[in-house]
Amino acid sequence: MNVPLLDLQAQHRAIKDEVLPALQAVIESQQFVMGPQIAQLEAELAKLCHAPHAVACASGTDALLLPLKALALKPGDEVITTPFTFFATAGTIHNAGGTPVFVDIEPGTFNIDTAAVEAAITPRTRAIMPVHLFGQMAALERLLPLVQARGLKLIEDAAQAIGARRKIDGRWRMAGELGWVSGFSFFPSKNLGAWGDGGMITASEDEIAARLRKLRLHGGAKQYYHDEVGTNSRLDTIQAAVLLAKLPHLAAWSARRREHAAYYDQGLAGLPAVRTPVVDPCNEHIFHQYTLRAERRDGLQTHLKSAGIGNAIYYPVPLHLQNCFRYLGHSRGRFPESERAAAEAISLPVYPELTRDQLDYVIDAIRRFYR
Ligand SMILES: *Cc1c(COP(=O)(O)O)cnc(C)c1O
Repeated sequence: MNVPLLDLQAQHRAIKDEVLPALQAVIESQQFVMGPQIAQLEAELAKLCHAPHAVACASGTDALLLPLKALALKPGDEVITTPFTFFATAGTIHNAGGTPVFVDIEPGTFNIDTAAVEAAITPRTRAIMPVHLFGQMAALERLLPLVQARGLKLIEDAAQAIGARRKIDGRWRMAGELGWVSGFSFFPSKNLGAWGDGGMITASEDEIAARLRKLRLHGGAKQYYHDEVGTNSRLDTIQAAVLLAKLPHLAAWSARRREHAAYYDQGLAGLPAVRTPVVDPCNEHIFHQYTLRAERRDGLQTHLKSAGIGNAIYYPVPLHLQNCFRYLGHSRGRFPESERAAAEAISLPVYPELTRDQLDYVIDAIRRFYR
């Protein structure tokens, strides 16, 4: 049997009668840049995330970079984040002129250790950037008092967490709802994937939303009049049309991912060599990834590969140990939980279209490896 890590062709087969006419409509209109679908998608995303504003842009990376640029960081200004994440989280801090300040992760959820964040705040700190890793939210209620007391900005890296939510003080709060701004990615492999690159920023305040709308259009609200220097970071109308056609399916897809995760949890229970994902009881996880901690992880990976089972190591090298961040002066041992996670984590197929037989096959292969 073959079980790919992700099967976008299966998704496409199921929805192509909805996506292709939407695409055809854009082609007939020939409005490839800033067509009406952009504002429609922004309105839908703002509604989904309980956010007053949403601003479409060219990628998830730009969805983090543009707000960081809006902060006008000066050399030495610091942004606190996690080293156990996709590269863009810290890459954008660097590219916006700031210094990434890493804080280790909680071993259970893989998310930033909020208790350690306060100790990392200095007079140069401008923002805190938690990542909702693998699809479950970081404990924002523990970061909000820190940013509020000190006038810092909370930037959520929600690239992997569209539609995820967390119960705070008895109320469900969405990824993208509580931050000053939040960045989402529509990279094809994300839970809501475009047919290429795309991103979205949700924003809590009118002022920053208006600013971001300018920054994505070379810094001008009116064409050929520039208030500041921005860039070209628009989302293509074609991508917005694809995303609008897919969006009605997102909740059901995430629910399927949760069902698959529960099935894996059950099938792998009692196997001491693997630890199934820890879901914080306050969170509704969307399982962008289903990530185990596994003994003899690299051996398991080879075994799964030879059994035809797709898998991936997210992430093999924590960001404080990347060559490009050597200038920050961190060495091995600095963030032990992130380093341990990099050595133990392995992600399994969890896409919605997986069948029961495929799930059984994966569970069986893992059990065989440790027998
Ligand atoms: C995917 C991702 C990004 C970047 O999104 P792109 O659309 O690929 O630019 C940023 N942060 C995290 C955590 C991601 O997973």
